[in-house]
Amino acid sequence: EAITIQELANRMAERAVDVIKLLMKQGQMLKINDVIDADTAELIATEMGHTVKRVSEADVEEGLYAEPDHDDDTTPRPPIVTVMGHVDHGKTSLLDALRHANVVSGEAGGITQHIGAYQVEQNGQKITFIDTPGHAAFTAMRARGAKATDIVILVVAADDGVMPQTIEAISHARAAGVPIIVAINKMDKPSANPDHVRTELLRHEVVVESMGGDTLEVEVSALKGTNLDKLLEAILLQSEVLELKANPDRSAEGIVIEAKLDKGRGPVASVLVQRGTLKVGDIVVAGSEWGRVRAMLNDKGEQVQEAGPSTPVEVLGFQGTPDAGDRVAVVENEARGREITEYRQRVKRETLHKSAAGSRGSLEQMMTKLQTAGRKEFPLLVKTDVQGSLEAIIGALEKLGNDEVMARVIHGGVGGITESDITLAEASEAAIIGFNVRANAQARSAADRAGIEIRYYNIIYNLVDDVKAAMSGMLSPER
Ligand code: GDP
Repeated sequence: EAITIQELANRMAERAVDVIKLLMKQGQMLKINDVIDADTAELIATEMGHTVKRVSEADVEEGLYAEPDHDDDTTPRPPIVTVMGHVDHGKTSLLDALRHANVVSGEAGGITQHIGAYQVEQNGQKITFIDTPGHAAFTAMRARGAKATDIVILVVAADDGVMPQTIEAISHARAAGVPIIVAINKMDKPSANPDHVRTELLRHEVVVESMGGDTLEVEVSALKGTNLDKLLEAILLQSEVLELKANPDRSAEGIVIEAKLDKGRGPVASVLVQRGTLKVGDIVVAGSEWGRVRAMLNDKGEQVQEAGPSTPVEVLGFQGTPDAGDRVAVVENEARGREITEYRQRVKRETLHKSAAGSRGSLEQMMTKLQTAGRKEFPLLVKTDVQGSLEAIIGALEKLGNDEVMARVIHGGVGGITESDITLAEASEAAIIGFNVRANAQARSAADRAGIEIRYYNIIYNLVDDVKAAMSGMLSPER
């Protein structure tokens, strides 16, 4: 348990400089970002006339995420849809086509904003699409215990059939318990063979309607815009079955789908509201950041005052940039927001210190081994979307190498690449590998600053091959 001087001052609503002065009187020369232990902090706080209450995780987090909605208070909400499928099967094209087909003709400008999700209307009913295709975002959110998808659109190209990432997508949807709607795409192509797709899906236990199952299917062409309305109908049909509901009349909860630091506007977070209604002026916490909602913009770039269930909005007013996948909750006041986020930041820091210390140990071991064996090591930090891939990748990498050089995974984990991964990689001079996961904005800029390489893969074979090549590069630098 430790706290920086700045945090302690914030919490007491005192100036940091006064805390520093007091510490100085006691013979400690410290700076604003230095860390003091809990006992010293308590002493200082008491000295400054504050009553001290040490908080535990339970205290801090208690009541943050309210009870599930009661059925009586709920009203239907739009379905939240994620598009998945193999690379080049048309996920991006489909998302674009759906978005454009839906812009009411004559509506000036149409949709201008990319805020990570958008809404379309079909028969007066709204549907929310997560704008990042693939299962990276989907899993990042799931990894944090937030279910942000009601329906998965599985895009399969009619001229290509079921491919490795199609199968991965099926596993992801299944693991999350999310129903699939199959969109057989590229039907405009002469080589399209939708029946082949259906039979192949059967082998993976996805039984579409025309094969006697209950998985909805639609033959589409994202390129020509064919049957997009049928796809939207299928989504509405499926969501009717799911009876998606939420209580709009309570404080909001949601999830960060994207976040960035904007030069002019400061931290900007795209939030998908899941329950309740988010309002301008609300105090929100997201992961280890908090803020007062200063303004909200919808997916058309328009200012809005409130956002109800299943609505994506860009939120301005955070003090710092939260991470994609962070859960969002409204709290009663700024002090509470500060308490929760400072607590979480501290936990994060402590975990980081621990893992950094751990890796130093193993690095040292590694160095001795290096010297005795005269072997070069190639340190790697691996992040994946699921535990299964992580194990497979570590297994494959650790088999690589020969007498002169070997790969070594210094850290493997499930989830997106974060700033703490960069810190760890920097400390260990490791390269970072993301398998079906991406780095968030903070991690990317930290990596740039540190000169750390991040490589992304979605096929294990390619990953292993590249590491092998890099290792042979270490062997023969003249190449
Ligand atoms: P993603 O990797 O799944 O996001 O796939 P993209 O949307 O980037 O599409 C990959 C390629 O397939 C692009 O060249 C698209 O123009 C093309 N494509 C996508 N949908 C269709 C379609 O319905 N018909 C045809 N003929 N080509 C398509």
